[in-house]
Amino acid sequence: MEERGRKPDGLRQLCDRVKGRMDFRSFFVRYCPEAARASSQKFHAQCPIPSHSHSGKGSPSLSIDLQRGLFHCFSRDEGGDAIRFYELMHGVSFGRAVGDLARELGVDGKGRHDGRLALQAEPDVEQAKELEPLSTERMCAVCGKFLEVCREENQMEGVNYLARRGIDALTIERAGIVYFPRRSYRRVMRCMLENFSIEELQRSGLFNMKAHLTFYKHRLLFPFYVEGQPRYLQARTTAAGVEPRWHNMRGSVPSLYNADELTDLPSGETVYLVEGFTDTLTLMTHGFAAVGLVGASGFKEEWLAPLARFQIVAALDSDAAGERASSRYQEMFAARGIALARLQLPSDVNDFFQHRPSASLEFALLTEDAIEQ
Ligand SMILES: [Zn+2]
Repeated sequence: MEERGRKPDGLRQLCDRVKGRMDFRSFFVRYCPEAARASSQKFHAQCPIPSHSHSGKGSPSLSIDLQRGLFHCFSRDEGGDAIRFYELMHGVSFGRAVGDLARELGVDGKGRHDGRLALQAEPDVEQAKELEPLSTERMCAVCGKFLEVCREENQMEGVNYLARRGIDALTIERAGIVYFPRRSYRRVMRCMLENFSIEELQRSGLFNMKAHLTFYKHRLLFPFYVEGQPRYLQARTTAAGVEPRWHNMRGSVPSLYNADELTDLPSGETVYLVEGFTDTLTLMTHGFAAVGLVGASGFKEEWLAPLARFQIVAALDSDAAGERASSRYQEMFAARGIALARLQLPSDVNDFFQHRPSASLEFALLTEDAIEQ
């Protein structure tokens, strides 16, 4: 093995930069699940180093220092930094360890690093599909905690973003919408790691296989409540030019957006069926009851029954796709004996309310016409 003192300068510098960029908790948690829940920076874990051939029984022999990124196995009296740990875990040379980690962290040999955290936070493309989904109960626990943790952070940018779209603070609160700024990313990630196993976080889709929170570019969170419990959430970016605009947990949308609000609504009331979050929230802001269709999956048959006791009015986009969807839903509703009125607006719902001073009145009148037809 090479000696530390004789490593080429370039490699040494790269090694230092890699260590400077590493999140040691996320690194060690891949090998030692105990790292996720360690409440202090120093803790003991079962030593996973393959060449040590530990029995896995007995007291944990590996001491880890998350602050400095160091480890020491007391049983085999071997220790070092995170790079050395990687060497031992993967049976690779120092150069290879530095190279692997540099690539993973987006650190190159020239002193630049582009969107290192953004790379680390990228949602998994393939691996996560093999994970078993969480139970509804655990999904609610993860969602609920995530919302609670983020609510502690500064909400201003999120509130302002929605306010620019005409959505007021009361509606934001009713819908349980929460935001966290990018600068809070690490703190939010750490809080989640302290409360759940990395395995549960990965199964929920909140974390990726690199043990990082995947909600990095998408930090405005829209929860789906079912019977008062946050069962799922989708998040959007508030920045221009970020694609995709939306990111969500694993699994599928459990209900129409905002459907839980209908629970206390008297039968016979008018409920609007619209596209997406913004239109739903716009109508809520103006005192109308609304539920939102989300994503390409569209409407599910089992969501029909709870709507039967209301007067449902579809106010989908007036483009060709919206027209097709409206026709399809009209047939679907009719098959269950439910009338679906269709509202034709000159623009989408949000535009309509943003640009007309007497939008609420006009909207109510258009609705009357639509129901009569
Ligand atoms: Zn060991």
